Amino acid sequence: MSLNTSKPMLQLKLTALLSTDLLVNIGNLFAGSRDQVRLVEDISRCLQGTCSEVLEFKILNPEARLELQVLMERLRQIGQTARDKGVRILVDAEHTYENLGLSLLTLAMMAAYNSTTSIVWNTYQCYLKKTMDNVKNEMSIARRLNVYFGIKLVRGAYVSQERDEAKRIGLPDPVCENYKTTNDNYNRVLSFLLDTASRPGAKINIMVATHNEESTKLAVTRIREYKLDRLQDTVVTFGHLLGMCDHISVILAQAGYQVYKALPYGPVEMVMPYLARRAAENKTGLMGARREQQLLWEELKRRLWRQCSCCACFPY
Ligand SMILES: Cc1cc2nc3c(=O)[nH]c(=O)nc-3n(C[C@H](O)[C@H](O)[C@H](O)COP(=O)(O)OP(=O)(O)OC[C@H]3O[C@@H](n4cnc5c(N)ncnc54)[C@H](O)[C@@H]3O)c2cc1C
Repeated sequence: MSLNTSKPMLQLKLTALLSTDLLVNIGNLFAGSRDQVRLVEDISRCLQGTCSEVLEFKILNPEARLELQVLMERLRQIGQTARDKGVRILVDAEHTYENLGLSLLTLAMMAAYNSTTSIVWNTYQCYLKKTMDNVKNEMSIARRLNVYFGIKLVRGAYVSQERDEAKRIGLPDPVCENYKTTNDNYNRVLSFLLDTASRPGAKINIMVATHNEESTKLAVTRIREYKLDRLQDTVVTFGHLLGMCDHISVILAQAGYQVYKALPYGPVEMVMPYLARRAAENKTGLMGARREQQLLWEELKRRLWRQCSCCACFPY
């Protein structure tokens, strides 16, 4: 397949490729590892076909090891095809019990495919209190492996599930107390990333995946301040869902920024509930939709008025 765009991007839900048990097991390996860089390297070697070297996997049972081999083959095909076609793979973040495993697999893919540019990206959810620490840790692993760190920064889509699950198992709530603290966290992590990107030799690509105007303005201000828009390679991309906040996407694109519009596709019975959840969680998206409608209406009036100034056919 060829795509008519210079830097195509594709979101990947890794959870579709393996069982939750295996993912949680892999996450536990990551959390318990005394040498996370080495573990990432081991799995990255596994991706290149030499799985026997992965000593840590001895703790997995034979069935899980077989599933892991199939998974490695799938990730290898995805990574190699993406690299050959120049398509960026954005791995989605999901629930906290899955995210550690997702991070380990994604970092291993970065180690295998991100030596010259960010082909594989991970996602970090700023509604989680620990996100800054995780970003710093995983960024330092990529740095030590001397590969590019691709990061999609979101607020997070599973507030109520996270809270319910924490309550059910008697753990503290991992999510920021309210919308304001999530916003503060997002802007803090975003500022940290842009500051890091401005340093000489930084190997980082950032997607500001939000419909929030305040965070978007903050990103644009910092990009200009650090002159990141003058660099040859695009360091910062903006990410929106198709059909949401198009007025912001257009303004950004007109100003020369790259904007990725995410297009979910699949059977209607699966896509519609997904879109309904996105619309419900999206506080600024809804306000944006009203604003967009108003802007479109004004533009329509302006164009019609230009064509025909007769008061009778255009009485506004
Ligand atoms: C391109 C793209 C990719 C995405 N990929 C992922 C992904 O991989 N994983 C994922 O989880 N999400 C993903 N999302 C969804 C994202 O996490 C947000 O749910 C969505 O974008 C709405 O947040 P916002 O920043 O756009 O806007 P806003 O409307 O400003 O923020 C809404 C968000 O604020 C947070 N929030 C709202 N109320 C509270 C509260 N009471 N307490 C704490 N926090 C609160 C929630 O995170 C909510 O989603 C993606 C979004 C985009 C645009």
